[in-house]
Amino acid sequence: MKILLVDDDLPSRRLLEKILSAEGHEVLSCATGESAWEYYEREPAAMAILDWMLPGMTGLDLCRKIRSHPKGRDTFVFMVTARTDAADLRAVLDAGADDYLAKPVDIAQAGVRLAIALRQLEHRIERNRVEDALKKSEQRYALAAQGANDVLWDWDLVEGRIFLSARWYSLLGLKPVPGEINPEEGWFERIHPEDRMRVKRRVEEHLLGLTDHFESEYRACHESGHYCWVLSRGVAQRAADGRAVRMAGSHTDLTMRGVHDALTGLPSRALFMERLNTVLEINRRRGGQPFALFFVDLDRFKMINDSLGHAVGDELLVATAQRLKNCIRPGDMIARLGGDEFTILLEGVRDNEEAKEIAGRIEAELVQPVRVRDQEVFSTASIGIVINHSGYQQAEELLRDADTAMYRAKAGGRARFEMFNATMREAAVQRMALVTDLRQAIRRKEFLNHYQPIVDLSTGTLAGIEALVRWNHPQRGYVSPIEFIPIAEELGLIVPLGQWVVEEACSQLQEWRQVYGEELPLSVSANLSTRQFSQGDILLTVQQALENSGLPPSSLILEITESALAEDIDSASVLLKKIRDLGVRICIDDFGTGYSSLQYLHRLPANALKVDRSFTARLDQDREANEIVRAILDLAGKFGIEVIAEGVEMERQRATLVRMGCHRGQGALFSMPLDPEQAGGMIRKAFPLRAVSGA
Ligand code: C2E
Ligand code: CA
Ligand code: CA
Repeated sequence: MKILLVDDDLPSRRLLEKILSAEGHEVLSCATGESAWEYYEREPAAMAILDWMLPGMTGLDLCRKIRSHPKGRDTFVFMVTARTDAADLRAVLDAGADDYLAKPVDIAQAGVRLAIALRQLEHRIERNRVEDALKKSEQRYALAAQGANDVLWDWDLVEGRIFLSARWYSLLGLKPVPGEINPEEGWFERIHPEDRMRVKRRVEEHLLGLTDHFESEYRACHESGHYCWVLSRGVAQRAADGRAVRMAGSHTDLTMRGVHDALTGLPSRALFMERLNTVLEINRRRGGQPFALFFVDLDRFKMINDSLGHAVGDELLVATAQRLKNCIRPGDMIARLGGDEFTILLEGVRDNEEAKEIAGRIEAELVQPVRVRDQEVFSTASIGIVINHSGYQQAEELLRDADTAMYRAKAGGRARFEMFNATMREAAVQRMALVTDLRQAIRRKEFLNHYQPIVDLSTGTLAGIEALVRWNHPQRGYVSPIEFIPIAEELGLIVPLGQWVVEEACSQLQEWRQVYGEELPLSVSANLSTRQFSQGDILLTVQQALENSGLPPSSLILEITESALAEDIDSASVLLKKIRDLGVRICIDDFGTGYSSLQYLHRLPANALKVDRSFTARLDQDREANEIVRAILDLAGKFGIEVIAEGVEMERQRATLVRMGCHRGQGALFSMPLDPEQAGGMIRKAFPLRAVSGA
């Protein structure tokens, strides 16, 4: 890897050079900021290690320049500095540095920090690439009003290239062409010769400014030779001198409107169900023709969509439709139900074995990577199969059972198929029951909070408690939050549940304060889920919980996971600041598990953070864990952010944490979460004097 090293102090530069070359990196050494910038402009380095104090252009200046370079955000910047108080470090991070090394440089520490940085760098480059792709496709989408149902196009008039969305190719039965192509070939040559001149004239008129938008209806030639009717619309974008430089718009398929899915051109749900009912009807009357219904659902499609962008997702769906077609016989019917769900009706399937064979073929076909816009996209599918038998009356029943079998395939590890059987219906009914139960659990007051002590690691003194919700299910007993929180999120129940947790935590602590003394130096922490954060009115919930319980805001802490914030750090920060304005404290949960670097820490309006228990578990076992915890403690300390270690299970871990300067912790070494009665008893023991004075 190429590393730019800038330091005017020769001994310190030599030392770093030695460490870096030993690791096999290519080091570019400079004594001044100016010469380093010259290098960088010519060829951006993956990592830059900059001394702050340089004659002329300082390390901070250089860092800002790097960040303003088009490639600059991919570079990992270390600032080397002897000045490490909070104000100085804030200046370092504000200039855009990712991390810092204290001067004089400690070889061992620097080595580990560099290794960690290299890993973060990989994530960052990947993320930047995905973001770029996303932005580009989003801009394109914004240009067209009609959205995903139509073909979207974006024509660069200067370059003479046009981008046509995947739907264009599926509409005309063509192989998708990634990127931009020549508009003559891509578009005009596809228009019926009798219509072509007319369409071109309309375009020309608009480009000359004679019309306020372009609009034209015409016949377009499908690969199979037939024609379909298309309506095209577009608007030009003009340069300052009025010359059109770009034009974008949509093509609407007029023939297949409604009956066919707009993206893939496959029959829609309505058409499929109609056909399925007809086949059932024929079967009932004439008896016998067996058939199979396949329910095909792509695995992790949402992740592909979110990370690579909707345009890529769309193309994957189009490609999937095409591959499914390759696996079936001409008379069989494929439909897109919506999203990433497809159904296939296979008539004349003799038995289970034949259905399995076809499913195997589909799996094998779909597992092949698809090339979408210069990248390979990997996807698989889960398939549920149901073979018709005399019991079925309605198309919906068949679809429901195929769906159930598909769910089973997903639960069994994805990329596989399952045949429906009656026991599956039983299991599906039970899962549905859990869902129904969860809906009623709030009303029936089946939830309760357990409380885990948070202690001072050196003295063992009780400092706070964390509320951890439990579901006391009437038949199943305690259900873990790890199991039901995701279902609650999925069902939209997390908002009322989360509200209950906060209210309960506040009134419980207030009750204890009233019994054991209002001056009790205890706070309660409540966990917020990502969804709650984006959907509910957190601010109002918190205000009401405080008001109703009478608990002072300073006794409440809200825990939010790092990943919840990473999604949209700017709006999250605004919301967190408002919560802090109430006097409530904020704690970042599971810190260190996301991709965030320390850079991010000082942008968060947090009072505390929790080092994830995976780090605590690895303490003293691998050096990287120690180094990460030390770096977190170091910087958090400078910004006045308190650090709490999670999952402290062993005395050895406690001692190491104390040695590193971590003062707070929780875990099995002290106590696992306790039910309210036990927790009350623990508080009474912890504060005996107050208990007496309060009595
Ligand atoms: P978390 O917030 O990281 O909570 C800490 C989890 O670690 C708790 O599991 C706790 O019982 C467990 N734990 C505590 N000490 C130790 C230890 O020494 N070793 C080990 N291995 N584990 C320890 P729990 O209660 O099962 O909660 C799991 C997760 O469920 C929580 O992780 C949190 O993300 C979520 N959760 C719990 N309550 C709520 C809630 O009220 N709302 C929301 N949104 N999420 C909650
Ligand atoms: Ca927590
Ligand atoms: Ca945690």
